[in-house]
Amino acid sequence: MPDPGVQLDQRLAQLKPYRPGVTEEQISRTYNIAIANIIKLGSNENPYGMSPKAAQAIQKAAGSAHRYPDSHALLDALSNHLGASANQLVLGVGSTEVIDMIARAFLSPDTETIVSEYAFAMLAAMSHLSGASVISTPAKDYAHDPDAMLQAVTDRTRVIWLANPNNPTGTYLPPAQIQAFLEKVPAHIIVVIDEAYKEYLAPEDHQRSTLWLQTYPNLILLGTFSKVYGLAGLRIGYGVTNPKIAAILNSVKQPLNISTVGLAAAVAALQDQAYVQQARQRNHDGLQQLINGLKDLHLTTLPAYGNFVTVELPNAADTNEALLKQGIVVRPLTAYNMPNHLRITVGTPNENQELLKALQQIPA
Ligand SMILES: *Cc1c(COP(=O)(O)O)cnc(C)c1O
Repeated sequence: MPDPGVQLDQRLAQLKPYRPGVTEEQISRTYNIAIANIIKLGSNENPYGMSPKAAQAIQKAAGSAHRYPDSHALLDALSNHLGASANQLVLGVGSTEVIDMIARAFLSPDTETIVSEYAFAMLAAMSHLSGASVISTPAKDYAHDPDAMLQAVTDRTRVIWLANPNNPTGTYLPPAQIQAFLEKVPAHIIVVIDEAYKEYLAPEDHQRSTLWLQTYPNLILLGTFSKVYGLAGLRIGYGVTNPKIAAILNSVKQPLNISTVGLAAAVAALQDQAYVQQARQRNHDGLQQLINGLKDLHLTTLPAYGNFVTVELPNAADTNEALLKQGIVVRPLTAYNMPNHLRITVGTPNENQELLKALQQIPA
């Protein structure tokens, strides 16, 4: 192919494309395993899928997919659910798009942004695209270190990113620690807390952050329908913040970004909180099963607060390859500079058992 000869500016030159987990098709071809037999524990998806009510809503919405989407019902349902008003919300094509909107709205080449070592990769990736200097602060036992992040603040700092619980480490900063941090951040700096896994926390913890919005006008919280709600393939996420910031983000947003089908599914999923509770309970049990099984194999795990556990292995790359050969997909973390760890998503009890059985048979 001829070189298109386009000028790559500095921002693009340093971008590394995000690599999602290997696809089932790739594994099926490479290792000659039927797709139905592949165990997908690599992308933190809900192993049970979405609420049946969301699936029904998708069927129904298909009939009106020739119409442009109307997001009012989802904005109303979300504002009810979160106890915020609709003008505090912004919808994104996954919360990843909200991360992108924040970076585009508030970062530029002459500014700085702060993110912790081992933080969710999209936070730095979207920041780099804006041309801002991305300051990475050292983690403490693989978790974000709020003090290190505060020390990195300068006159040029515009946005500080946290993921809590964080992916890929699974670590979690308790509410008291976050609140102490928010108290110390200068009010003109935006703090973004990516809470993609909040529904897996104890209910008294997961609702606390929304209350902070009343005290900290510089706070943006991110949520997603990709994890506990099981709608990863439909790409729906959101931000909730004060109305001024929400208005700015909505002005950066493409007007009709969420599809008719996605909106309908999200509304139905949100209304089925019994399903969410069941997912949380199953995840809790599955996480325990994995942690106990890994402990029996004398492996060390990081603290796990989401729907996955990150485990340290002497030969993580070889183990990953051996698992793939058996059709078991987990996530290697070399891109995160964690070459001795693998991230394992909580599957069904059977899937967890298969994973543990395979690990037991792989020579360390
Ligand atoms: C999975 C995940 C998201 C969600 O991404 P979507 O774009 O909403 O699918 C956001 N943040 C973190 C930390 C995640 O792990």
